[in-house]
Amino acid sequence: MEKMQFKAESKRLLEMMINSIYSQKEIFLRELISNASDAIDKIYYRALTDESLTFDQDSYYIKVSPDKNNRILRIMDAGIGMTKEELENNLGVIAKSGSLSFKNETEAKDGHDIIGQFGVGFYSAFMVADVVTVISKALGSETAYKWESAGADGYTIEPYEKESVGTEILLKIKENIEEESYDEYLEEYRLKAIIKKYSDFIRYPIKMDISGRRPKEGSEDDFEDYTEEQVINSMVPIWRKNKNELTPEDYENFYNEKHYGFDKPLKHIHINVDGAVRYNAILFIPEKIPFDYYTQEFEKGLELYSNGVLIMNKCADLLPDHFSFVKGMVDSDDLSLNISREILQHDRQLKLIAKNISKKIKSELQSLLKNERDRYEEFYKSFGRQLKFGVYSDFGANKETLQDLLLFYSSKEKKLVTLDEYVSRMPEEQKYIYYASGESNERIEKLPQTEMVAEKGFEILYFTDDIDEFAIKMLMAYIDKQFKSVSSGDLGIEAEDKDSNDQADQGENKELFEYMKNILAGKVKDVRASKRLRSHPVCLATDGEVTIEMEKVLQAMPNNQNIQAEKVLEINPNHEVFNSLKESFKNDKDKANLYTSLLYNQALLIEGLPLQDPVEFTNDICKIMV
Ligand code: ADP
Ligand code: MG
Repeated sequence: MEKMQFKAESKRLLEMMINSIYSQKEIFLRELISNASDAIDKIYYRALTDESLTFDQDSYYIKVSPDKNNRILRIMDAGIGMTKEELENNLGVIAKSGSLSFKNETEAKDGHDIIGQFGVGFYSAFMVADVVTVISKALGSETAYKWESAGADGYTIEPYEKESVGTEILLKIKENIEEESYDEYLEEYRLKAIIKKYSDFIRYPIKMDISGRRPKEGSEDDFEDYTEEQVINSMVPIWRKNKNELTPEDYENFYNEKHYGFDKPLKHIHINVDGAVRYNAILFIPEKIPFDYYTQEFEKGLELYSNGVLIMNKCADLLPDHFSFVKGMVDSDDLSLNISREILQHDRQLKLIAKNISKKIKSELQSLLKNERDRYEEFYKSFGRQLKFGVYSDFGANKETLQDLLLFYSSKEKKLVTLDEYVSRMPEEQKYIYYASGESNERIEKLPQTEMVAEKGFEILYFTDDIDEFAIKMLMAYIDKQFKSVSSGDLGIEAEDKDSNDQADQGENKELFEYMKNILAGKVKDVRASKRLRSHPVCLATDGEVTIEMEKVLQAMPNNQNIQAEKVLEINPNHEVFNSLKESFKNDKDKANLYTSLLYNQALLIEGLPLQDPVEFTNDICKIMV
């Protein structure tokens, strides 16, 4: 028996790979099962084209058998097998892939199906085994051979007895070491779980002898051990099936089996694309928010399969952040994988798939919005915030995609409306899309600032989410209609009594407003006669981009940079209180000071802003009472 050396560079590669390429040892089983499946593919393909060969369908299976006592894990297939030369060439040199050259010869000339291109999958066996033995008999060959290796040292090869065509791989599982247990790779339940996880959709049955204990027939307290052969994998992936064959329950079961969520999916999206890039996908929009959704811990991503084999649990690149709530999987044969199948080397295909998926999700949401408004609103309650966040983030890069999916509560309709619905109802003289911000719809309803706009008969959108104003600032306009806060300095409405208000601003009142402005120096930028107030005496408005609601949000942020709104105190010149104010300004400056401070504090309260000195405020009120 001759001892062969691995090629020098292989030796180093082998060591490197064993120690670093794969992040999880358990994937060795995925690799060996994939190889077995490839080998059956080859014999199957041969049988299709060579009439002299006939094969029994039943022999196309893979068997996994652990032998705890001897620490041997055996993986058997009745595939095409390997000749002596093939054993040497395929298993003796790293980075030469047999499956690639086979596929090149036969079907995939256009570069599809390049899984295993690099041919190192087999060596992952050394992550869990001290010694790997391969006994193989090639189709059409008289002799079988045994290849054996204890790792980087090299391998031996010798003739061996084997009846049937195919390959048997025997792994001598490593002894446990302190930081790593290898026993698990001999446990039925563990092997079963690994097969389910990675190889559930291998198209040939993967069989295991599963043992158990059961009551003896006709007896209640007498038990017997038994062993029964089970098929572990489900074989036909639901995403490869025809949509017409599948019921909503099938999708629901899949959602639950895959543990995508504990709820029922609100909507499923089944995609079969056969274009420039080929892929199948099943996506779900969940019904309920995952408990950790709006936290740092939440990880977005879809399961990624290559040709039915799980490659990645959560491929984040497949989902944009604004659709991070989507669950599901993608399977494509067109992916370029690196040697470990873990990181994708060229992500051109992946990018195409991601783009495509994003479009599908959008159009599904749009049709939900159009055809099943109730369910869309249900969805929006959970994930609307994420959509608005999507409008805001990346400097508005996705605003076009998302703007038609937004909903806001409408002052007129008393329900959620789209921007399109709002704009299509706008009277001709209305220049802006008006909005008001506050804690709740009820509070916004009572804001004095809304009076004038509402009286004009203009619809107001209520913003109750932190993110709303920021998103809208990023949006800037919807179909060339700009957004305008009802608190903004200039409302863009021609007031009927404009003249009288302008007068109130000038002339005799100018002095009063200047006086008040001095008293409130540092607190407000200006004091003006209001054009938006009707019944209320006072309110705060803002000049500039930052509104009071935005200031609140910014102040609450961990990296608070003390950004302030440019506040303007607006006084209603038609309110009785204004007369008292004027009166005091003429005759009693102390009173004028008191009134100014009271009015300012009232405006703060209406806005839900904290009073700087609540005690002084109550004292001030008492002063007027006595
Ligand atoms: P790849 O699968 O990417 O080709 P591997 O390292 O997994 O790379 O396998 C190397 C080669 O060894 C395969 O291409 C195949 O030719 C051969 N091989 C491995 N396992 C088997 C098997 N069970 N039956 C037949 N050939 C096999
Ligand atoms: Mg392989």
